[in-house]
Formats: sequence, C-alpha cells, structure tokens
Amino acid sequence: MQKNNEVKFEVLHLPPTNTNSLLVTKGTDAVIFDPWGRASDWEKVLLERGLKLRAIYATHGHPDHISAAPALAKAFNVDWFLNEKDNYLIGWGNEILDMFGIPHIHAGFKKPINISNGLIEILPDLDMEILESPGHTPGGLMFYFPEYNILLIGDTLFQESIGRCDFPGGSEQQIFDSIHKLYEMKLDNETYVVHGHGMDTTIGWLKKNNPFFK
Ligand SMILES: [Zn+2]
Repeated sequence: MQKNNEVKFEVLHLPPTNTNSLLVTKGTDAVIFDPWGRASDWEKVLLERGLKLRAIYATHGHPDHISAAPALAKAFNVDWFLNEKDNYLIGWGNEILDMFGIPHIHAGFKKPINISNGLIEILPDLDMEILESPGHTPGGLMFYFPEYNILLIGDTLFQESIGRCDFPGGSEQQIFDSIHKLYEMKLDNETYVVHGHGMDTTIGWLKKNNPFFK
C-alpha cells in the first residue's frame, strides 16, 4: 500500500472564530501553529482525521495564539515551541479568553521549548525557517516554508495595518524594523501569507495595499 506523503497546509478557525490557526500535515503526521480555541476541540479534529500530532508552534505568546497549546501538548505528549522572550506572557490576559468562554492558561501547565532564528525540519523532509520579528511582542516569530512559499506572519503585519504595540513588551520601533527585515528578504509576489487574524494575502498584495510594508 502506498502511503500518502503529500504535504498539506490548511488554515483552521476553531470556535469561537477569532484567530487563524494553521494545520500542516504530511501523511498522518500533523503540526499545529497558533492553536486557538479549546484543546478538546483540537483533539476532535485530530481524531476525526486520524492524525498524529507531532508538535505545536506559536508565533507569539498572546493568549489568542496559544490558548490550546499547553493542554494539547500535555494530552498528546508533544512539545510546544515559543520564543522564550514571550514566556512572560503565558497566563497573561486570561480575561481575553473569558470573553470567548475559553479555559484559562495556567502558569503551571506544560512549558514551551525556546525557538529562535534558523532553519529546522518540522516533519521528515519539511523545512521551516524561523524569523524573529519582535514588536507586537518581544518574542514574536514568523514561520516561512521555502519549498511551498508560504509565510505565517502572526500579528506583525495585517492586511492593511500592523499589529498593536501597546500591550506589555510591545515596541513600535521594533515592529517597523521587523517589517523592514521581511521586506528586504524580497520574497516572491506570489508568496502566500497567512495572518494571525483576517483573510490570507500574498506578498504582492501587501506591497500594493499595506502602507507599512516597506
Ligand atoms: Zn497578538
């Protein structure tokens, strides 16, 4: 029997709709990015699709990007990854989760493993470039998949605006520097961009429509 080893990227909106999460699969292996929502809902998705969770990654430590991460990592005995400069945010802003009826993140939950700039293999033969992009938070990260030309940009850059810098640890100068660094990478106009919230775009679209992308 031939095993289906195709790599698939899918943006998921677990209830209540708010944050864009990314599910990356290769065969039955799965990696989740920015697991918004309840861990129990993610467990259902994985079970229904017969997927084996291998790891969880977060673009930054805000609760709407990690709400299910610690509990899901514990339930499936996998690691979850975050830049350590955002560790102080774990357990911060639980009132945001209250607004959505999502269980709180507790400081005693499974701790993340630090990741920073570099190229890593997240599944067999699937490379991901990690780009530090502080500003919205000190430990903000972007994830780029060179072979597939897909960029997960987090809350650094939105469709026509930038992420907020008025939360604890935010810095307007840093976010402009991070955006400029990304601009200087000269990614193809066709590069597919998944934002932390809202519709997906492309690098070409951002050049045309986002006045901060320069
Ligand atoms: Zn955020």
